[in-house]
Amino acid sequence: MNKKTLLRIAVALVLTVTAVFVPGRYSIILFAAAYLTVGADVVVTGVRNLFSGQALDENFLMTVSTVAAFCIGENIEAVAIMLFYQVGELFQKYAVDRSRRSVAELMDICPESVTVVKNGEMTECDPEDVEIGDIFVVKTGERIAVDGVVFDGNGLLDTSSVTGESLPVSVSVGDTAVSGSINIGDPIYIKAAARYENSTVAKVLELVENAASKKAKTERFITRFARVYTPCVVILALIIAVLPSVITGEISKWLYRAIIFLVVSCPCALVVSVPMAFFGGIGSACRKGVLIKGSDCLEKLAKVNMAAFDKTGTLTTGKFKISGVFSRGVDEDTLISLTAAAESLSNHPIAEAFLSVKYDKSKFIPENYSEVGGMGISVSFGKDKYFFGRKEWLEKNGITLDDKALSTAVYAAVNGEYIGHIELIDELKPNAFETVQKLSESGIKTVMLTGDNQVQALRTAKNAGIEECHSGMLPQDKAEYIENSNSEYNTMFVGDGINDAPTLAVAYVGVSMGSLGSDSAVEISDAVIMNDDISKIPEVIAVSKRTVRKVKENIVFSLAVKGAVLLLGAFGLVGAPAAVFADVGVMVLAVLNAMFNK
Ligand code: ADP
Ligand code: MG
Repeated sequence: MNKKTLLRIAVALVLTVTAVFVPGRYSIILFAAAYLTVGADVVVTGVRNLFSGQALDENFLMTVSTVAAFCIGENIEAVAIMLFYQVGELFQKYAVDRSRRSVAELMDICPESVTVVKNGEMTECDPEDVEIGDIFVVKTGERIAVDGVVFDGNGLLDTSSVTGESLPVSVSVGDTAVSGSINIGDPIYIKAAARYENSTVAKVLELVENAASKKAKTERFITRFARVYTPCVVILALIIAVLPSVITGEISKWLYRAIIFLVVSCPCALVVSVPMAFFGGIGSACRKGVLIKGSDCLEKLAKVNMAAFDKTGTLTTGKFKISGVFSRGVDEDTLISLTAAAESLSNHPIAEAFLSVKYDKSKFIPENYSEVGGMGISVSFGKDKYFFGRKEWLEKNGITLDDKALSTAVYAAVNGEYIGHIELIDELKPNAFETVQKLSESGIKTVMLTGDNQVQALRTAKNAGIEECHSGMLPQDKAEYIENSNSEYNTMFVGDGINDAPTLAVAYVGVSMGSLGSDSAVEISDAVIMNDDISKIPEVIAVSKRTVRKVKENIVFSLAVKGAVLLLGAFGLVGAPAAVFADVGVMVLAVLNAMFNK
């Protein structure tokens, strides 16, 4: 693609130089040939767009001005305009490729084939053909094609392209192996736990592909702007060409000025650089392990002035540990066994704390299990009906209790009677405080929304340095809170995805913890932090602010330079080459500015 453009430019240059030295009639043929070599596609597009009823675009603008230039004998200028334009295009292509490549690095996360082991024999197959339960081998240096669990061997996984995490993770039998990561350790055997289309790789690829297709408001603004702007410029140029000519009789002079006017007013600098700046920003966030789903999301991030955090799994690690058992009327062992058996069916982070509890699985068999998100569960053991969950959950089901836990807790009741609670602790993520502080420093108000009890909520909020704390909230309360704050703030909601989907949906910007491809939350949010590292939030906000600033700089700068050159041109103070150069120069500068976004 680029080679072709380069070749066209070279051929046109040779033709033009020759044309300059060839006398008379032949020279015009050479000029025309040079012109068509570099400009034919522009002319065709310009004319086709005109006839298909589309608004006058920059292709049309170029065509009119170059043909006009030929008419007044300014052959070199005519070719030069097209030449510069193609050079600019070439430059733009290079720049877009460059930022696309950083996204493409992510796109490259899926291996072409998988070595499946069946009955001791190894066969190669497509990732799409791996079935759940298949065992496949991932040799040193190979990528994992589908999500699975290590079946045999000890590996060392480089997960950086899926999670942005730079430290390798060592895995052994029973550990999860996330697709997209590279095994840099010894060969491992993995048992597939998901099909390719449900694996992390496929989800990440899908997100990246969609990201490119969503357009930011500013981008749309440019397109709309060009649609109004171009016809205005054409009309103005006509006026410049016709009116003074009629009055003064100096037709070629004013035609020439009108042409310069036409050339300079081409909005290509903006059309090219704005989408590129957004693309660069998304690429930069991507390299940090944050997937931003489109340029509009990136644009919104820059405007966030309130950050609302979920507690469990977002500010805290979500890895609960049992810290105390307080039984009432039953013995502690029974209480903990019942709770563990009930929680074995839940996927709430609290439930995980009970996975390591040893109890008699043949004796405690949960039946009629059901869970209300952010509240708790109801279940029966034999004929007895149990409730486990927060205090309000039990109260809602007609159970009275006046016990107060000192941290996160699971309250339990059987047949309407309270039988005690189990307290759990969950640690703050190590970088939570620092993250919150950075956000506060940049003028963003911080709040925490949680379903947990007030004691624990206040403690977590204080340790994380959060300004405002709301506890005892149900998932729908969180969504309502965000909705109400939307009128006053541009609220970013950061959640781990458990019970949070509605809140993520109503937030101005929804940010979810990757939880690696597991959740509807990942689908509904605007940005996904692939490695659950919240310290990436201030970094990504900085990226978005830088991107938006670059876009504004480019808009102001291009319009200012163009305005100045247009004025000078209209008064005959600058000639066509200078004008063209100013136009392409602005484009190159704008593109350079857009390109360099760390
Ligand atoms: P957070 O807002 O901190 O993310 P959730 O909204 O997920 O918390 O849950 C709120 C509260 O509901 C928990 O602190 C817990 O007391 C209770 N709860 C929710 N699900 C369960 C469950 N499966 N087992 C026990 N308690 C639960
Ligand atoms: Mg939660």
